[in-house]
Amino acid sequence: MDVRLKARRTTLTRALTPAQTTEEPVVLPNWCPDCGGSGYLDSINLVRETKVQTCQHCGLRWETRID
Ligand SMILES: [Zn+2]
Repeated sequence: MDVRLKARRTTLTRALTPAQTTEEPVVLPNWCPDCGGSGYLDSINLVRETKVQTCQHCGLRWETRID
């Protein structure tokens, strides 16, 4: 049971990350709050209605609410 849950989580993460990074119509990447660089979408939390983004320049990860 433990192994099964772990495998499922990995699959979900991989499905979300590469394909929807630039072509997500609803959730658009924002700018890094630290250095102002462009961020890319890292993950979306539908339960909390937040999105996690990573800065391409400084590597900062931050979370914002989905409007
Ligand atoms: Zn940055």
